[in-house]
Parts: sequence; structure tokens; C-alpha cells
Amino acid sequence: MDINETIQSLRETLNEWSYQYYVLDQPTVSDFEYDKKLRELEQLEEAHPELITPDSPTQRVGGQAISAFQQVIHEVPLQSLQDVFSEEELAAFDQRIRENSEAVSYVVEPKVDGLSVALEYVDGVFVRGATRGDGAVGEDVTENLRTVRSIPMRLEHAPHRLIVRGECYISRENFQKLNDERDLAGETLFANPRNAAAGSLRQLDPKVAAKRRLDCIIFNIQLSDGSQFDTDSAALDYLETLKFKVIPHPVRDTLSEVSQWIAQLGDEREQYPFDIDGAVVKLNRLAERSVLGETSKFPRWAVAWKYPPEQKPTKLLDIVVQVGRTGVLTPKAVVEAVRLAGTTVTNATLHNQDFITEKDIRIGDTVIVQKAGEIIPQVVSVDASKRHEDSNPYFLPSTCPVCGAPVERDEDGVAMRCTGAECPAQLVRHLVHFASRDAMDIEGLGPAVVKALVDAGLVKTPADLYQLTAEEVAGLERMGKKSAQNLIKALEKSKSNDLSRLLCAFGIRQVGSRAAQTLSREFQTLDRLMGAAAEELTVVDDIGSVTAEFIVKWFASSQSQHLIEALREAGLNFRSTEEKAGDALKGLTFVLTGTLSQMTRSEAKKRIEQAGGKVSGSVSKKTSYVVAGEEAGSKLTKAQALGLTILSEQQLLEMLG
Ligand code: AMP
Repeated sequence: MDINETIQSLRETLNEWSYQYYVLDQPTVSDFEYDKKLRELEQLEEAHPELITPDSPTQRVGGQAISAFQQVIHEVPLQSLQDVFSEEELAAFDQRIRENSEAVSYVVEPKVDGLSVALEYVDGVFVRGATRGDGAVGEDVTENLRTVRSIPMRLEHAPHRLIVRGECYISRENFQKLNDERDLAGETLFANPRNAAAGSLRQLDPKVAAKRRLDCIIFNIQLSDGSQFDTDSAALDYLETLKFKVIPHPVRDTLSEVSQWIAQLGDEREQYPFDIDGAVVKLNRLAERSVLGETSKFPRWAVAWKYPPEQKPTKLLDIVVQVGRTGVLTPKAVVEAVRLAGTTVTNATLHNQDFITEKDIRIGDTVIVQKAGEIIPQVVSVDASKRHEDSNPYFLPSTCPVCGAPVERDEDGVAMRCTGAECPAQLVRHLVHFASRDAMDIEGLGPAVVKALVDAGLVKTPADLYQLTAEEVAGLERMGKKSAQNLIKALEKSKSNDLSRLLCAFGIRQVGSRAAQTLSREFQTLDRLMGAAAEELTVVDDIGSVTAEFIVKWFASSQSQHLIEALREAGLNFRSTEEKAGDALKGLTFVLTGTLSQMTRSEAKKRIEQAGGKVSGSVSKKTSYVVAGEEAGSKLTKAQALGLTILSEQQLLEMLG
């Protein structure tokens, strides 16, 4: 045998084994044997790269990534199907058919819930595969489809040109595996096998698509030169001989037989390896199909029976409450394990308190669960006839199950939210808000750094930020020494922020930066604000009774008090820098330099601020006055250079009155 023949024979063997495994589901050799043969072929192809062809079994792992998909104009459009939802609609369809055709028989097929594709072969070689798109124009996903093991890359005894149509899908089993892997990797989960298949088929990198274990089942010949068939079922039988994976396609003669089959498929659809969302009924005789023709959207000779989402009764064992990142409490039903739409279900969504109240869902109830396209099924209703006498209506807890802080109904009236200032479930969000520009404005403390700090266990409350050391921060991933030092500096700087920033940073409901500024100016110190009753608060501009209530409750919570004490200890400024009274120095910025003789620098700062002025650490054009004491240094020089007014200590005292 020459090398060509050896390669050919290896490919044939491997193709046959793949066919047995992926199409017939009846492997005759072990994976090990398959891999060994494949390796043999790979080695030969490595030594003779000129002999590699795109249809070789070695090319199934995915080739080069591309930047965009090419458009494909479908030679034969990929039509949609008219839906029917009732026996009456189905009977009307049957009647229309019988008015026009004689000796009617139907092909009945499961409607696979995946994505339609067209596969094109020239002289038996797979040359192109495209998505359905809008039916007229799709996308060229040839390289991704090459990785689908059940799609033959080479056909024996095929017509010169052949285009077949099928449905690409991910089996439920592979879907489960895929989501398990994504879960482990911390990636977002696919909602259902259909979404997973769609995402995979439209991967620009075929290597990714190859890992998704897509499958493809064929249900139609779009175009075939050379072969003629009288019926659809004969055409599909023929595709089976070409070794395609073909949709089950039994033939039924009467309407009642069709209905029976639909009902049976409905009962058995769980047993199929793929999601089935309907049953397709197609006129079998091809000549009669062309007489009936089509509308602009659908063929007139076929309909799709749509199954309602599958529902099952099960027992509601418990309701667990989760606290999301934004503090919203979400109730989740724990149910007795039940098989639903091909997966084992143990949890169901309950949405919120209103949902539970409206349906009067109680622990111990028999509930009907349904799965319709989402990962977690829903509770649709309660079977009240099976309810225990001693059951009680369910209410979400009034305190947070994570931190114990009071729970309050949201402004929108639906969500229940934890108000805990230190609630671990909301920590990242709290910290990001705390550091944000309107709040404490801590440079370098964005969401990524916050998350890294929390993940490393370094920060459990906003107050912990002020205990961080540069070494700890530098130890974080992607954090340089320099940026660590800068972060510590920024934190240090934020300690002297105006009280209004801290108030805003607390994240009290309805207290944004504006309200925080008004409050801090009015009450001057945090302690005075904390002591204020709701009536005192409403006297202040912009503060309504609802906000006042939120403020009073927030300060009353033990978590808030704990946080405030920790921040006090860390040395944060709890005072307003904007004086309520005294506006003698309003709008003026002072820079202090050198040693003062009659007061300390900080006393001077305080007195200036009390008179409405501001004290800045550095000289700039915005500086109104520079107060120069003994041995004034570089700041004085700079002030002179800028032509600023220089004051003596005595002059400052006179201004202060
Ligand atoms: P719809 O998307 O609801 O208009 O239904 C039409 C779609 O059903 C087609 O585009 C196909 O992708 C899909 N389909 C799945 N299985 C079959 C089948 N056995 N015969 C025809 N179409 C099918």
C-alpha cells in the first residue's frame, strides 16, 4: 500500500467508527482504539502535509479563528413553520390538505429545539455550512460545523450536488456538562441548550466550537441533483444510507393517527437526548407539496404543533432566602427532586413576596413546577387540595438572613432589601459606592480593586479599608508597589473629607450627595446628626418625611453604629467643613506655611473653616491668601512667584475678628 492508500484507509476506518459512535450511538471500538488510530493518521499527515484535506478526521478539532462570518445566500430558502396550538387548528390544516390532495399521508417528526443549518456537499465532500439567518441569507459557519462529529465530511455514492437541512443542537447531557464546567470556571451559565448551541455555532474560533460538542440532526433535502424521490420519507431514508444522523420520520395516514403520535411524543419527549419544543407534521408526497406551494413565510403543506412547557407536581420542602449583591432578598423554593424537561429539578424560582402572596405558596404544599427555556424552573401554582390543615402563609424574614439587619420594602414596592451597613452579601457594592467620586472619592479604589480586596479577605467592612497596609495591598494580583502606596495615600487623604462625603458614602437610602451636603451643613457634626429625631430632620431643605425615616432607622441600627465607631477610631473627619453660621471668610482659600506663634496650624485651620473659609495644603492660583509664619518655606516662595497676597499671623487674626 502506498502512503496515499494508507491514509485513505485510515480515514475510512475512523469515519466509520465516528459514524457508529456519533450517528448510530453504537460504538464498536473503545475511545482508546479510536485515539490510537487517529494519532497514526496525524503522524502520517504531519510527515506529508500536502496530503491533508479539509475532510480528514484530523481536521475536526477546529482550524483558524476568523474575524467575521461571510454571508451565504441560500439557494433554497430555509422556511419557517406555521404553528398550531389545538386539535381544531390541526384538524383545519388536515382538511385543507385533503381538499387538494388524494391519498394523503404525513411524515411526523419531533421538532428539535436548536438552530437550523444548511449543509452543502459537492461530489460527496462537505464544502459549506450556513446558519438559517432570516431564511434567505445566513452566515457561513463551515469551520464550526466541521467540528460536529455527526456531520459526515465525505459521503459515499453521493449526487454531484447535495444540500441538506438539519437542526444543530447540544444534547441535554452535554449541556449539563458544559454548564458545570462554566460554573467551575466562574463563567455565566447558558440558560438552556438552545442558547448554548446558538452561542457555540456563532463562535469565531472553531476551537471553542469544537469543545462545545454540538450535534446535528437532518430533516430535509433542500437540493439534490441526480436523485428523485416520490415521498419525503423515502428522501430521509436515502439520507440515512448516506450516513447522516436523520430525524425519526414515521408516516401516519389519518388525522387521528397523527394526533395520537403527537400525544405520544409529548409524553416521551423527556426521553430524547435533545430538547423538543413541538411536533412537525408534513405532507409526505412531494408532488402534492409543490401543488400546495407556500406563503411568503411558510410552506402550506406542513405545520408545527407546539407543546406547552412541561409541568409536574412536586412537594415544596422549604423556602430559602438569598441576599443578592444589591441587598435584595430572593426566595427560592426547595422541592422534592422531580424530572422535568430532561433534567432533575430540586429548586424553583419564587421571585418575591408578592408572587408568594398572590399564589399563597406555603412550605409543605404540593406545587406545580414548569420549565420553559430558563435554567431554574418556576412555581406555576399550588394544588390547594393537597394542603395540610396546619400550614401557614409564608412571609420573607423581616431581618436579613445573612447579617441580621432590618429588611425593608424597596421604593419600587416589590423588592425587599437588607439595610445592613456591613452586610457581607452586599460588601463589594457597598465598598464601590463608599469609594466612588460622589462619596469618599478614593482614587484607585475601583470595582476591580475592591473585589480583589474582598476576595483576599482583607476587607469586611468599609472601616477595614483604613486598616490596610501598603504591603497587604501590594500582595494583590495585578497590583504594583507604587499603586499600593498610592491607594494608601488616597485612603489617608479621604479621612479628612468633608462630613457630607462620608454621609453620602454610607449609602443611606435616598441620601445622595446633595442631601448629604445639606445635612452636613445643617448639623455640622455626625454626632449631632445621629442624635436628631425625624422631625428635626424634616426641617432641613430637601429632606422629606420618608427620607427622614430612612436616616433615623439607619443610624439606629447596630451595624451602622459599629461602622461609625470603627471609622471614628480610624480618625475620619466627622465634621462639616462648611460652617453653618460664620461666613466671614466664605469662598476664600488659605494656605498656611511656617510656624505660627499665637496658635497651632490646626487651630488656625479650624478657625478659618469656622469662618467659612477653606484651608488647602498647597499653593495654587486658586489660593486667596497665604499665611506666612516664622521660617516659611517653599510655599511662600511659590506664592510670591504667583503674585498672591501674603498675610502675617496678625493680619489673619484681624480677619478672623
Ligand atoms: P419556528 O422557529 O417556530 O418557526 O419553527 C421552524 C423551525 O423549526 C425551523 O427553522 C427549524 O429550525 C426547526 N425544526 C426543528 N425540527 C424540525 C423538523 N423536524 N422539521 C422542520 N423544522 C424543524
